[in-house]
Amino acid sequence: MFKYNCQNPISKVGISKLGPDYEATDQMEDAEVLLIRSANLHDVSLPENLACIARAGAGVNNIPLELCAEHGIVVFNTPGANANGVKELVLAGMLLASRDIMGGIEWVKSQKGNPDVNAQAEKQKKKFAGCEINGKKLGIIGLGAIGQLVANAATHLGMDVYGYDPYLSVDAAWNLSRSIHHIQDLDEIYRECDYITVHVPLTDSTRNMIDSRALELMKDEVVILNFSRDLLVDEKALVQALRSHKVKKYVTDFANPTVAGEPGILVTPHLGASTEESEDNCAVMAVKEMRDYMEN
Ligand code: NAD
Repeated sequence: MFKYNCQNPISKVGISKLGPDYEATDQMEDAEVLLIRSANLHDVSLPENLACIARAGAGVNNIPLELCAEHGIVVFNTPGANANGVKELVLAGMLLASRDIMGGIEWVKSQKGNPDVNAQAEKQKKKFAGCEINGKKLGIIGLGAIGQLVANAATHLGMDVYGYDPYLSVDAAWNLSRSIHHIQDLDEIYRECDYITVHVPLTDSTRNMIDSRALELMKDEVVILNFSRDLLVDEKALVQALRSHKVKKYVTDFANPTVAGEPGILVTPHLGASTEESEDNCAVMAVKEMRDYMEN
């Protein structure tokens, strides 16, 4: 639901509410600004008079940044606006990886019409048993908008939280619970933690950061969560680690055809920011940035 009150509209705005299949149409031909969500702008020709692109979301991998820089097109994203939505899904992912909640639900559904279901459940429930996250070690790589919310929430859930972020901002440092251990050596997170969650941007230096070396250092039966970007994890090394049960669960928000169907995969179709609140926050922040820029 979009609620921005536009009293003084900018003249030519191309708005894409569409997903990655967006195709350039007449509507954006002479736009001065573009407001997008997940539309992929890499393979479309950008309008000649384009002054700025506002992306309602955090990642900007769908925008040709170098081309924009060459043409003086300013790009905005909406840092932090959807962080709470992602945090809540990460917490759900940790719980789903720890207990076979999905298996239990599916089993009850399969018993529709069985008057003996409760008695049967007592016999079946052992196979859905799991473990608690309370007291477990959680390693967080990247303590930005999302990582810091996950860190604080996990602390409240009784987890022992280890954070690694060599570029930690002063704001983030102030926002973080005092009980979080700040780690200088990433390998310590790999070696020590039962759950490892990645909250960094995808860049040349973070691509495949979870590679075979990192996986080898990790504890047996580690749970890895990746709600950031698919390519942060080396897919071949991950498949091997899943097959050998080195990795107990890989919880991700990105459907990947190589990894899908492997044992221990829990995948959602990029739902991290798919909440009413996150979508509203991102849209409002993107329009505000766009208007501030065009009016000043
Ligand atoms: P952010 O910019 O607020 O935080 C990223 C943090 O990563 C920063 O603190 C930065 O210092 C740190 N960092 C950068 N390189 C690092 C490295 N090599 N090692 C450790 N830390 C490093 O970003 P955010 O809003 O928290 O988003 C984090 C990730 O989540 C991004 O990849 C973003 O695209 C993704 N995201 C996914 C969804 C979703 O729907 N699943 C939604 C929003 C954001």
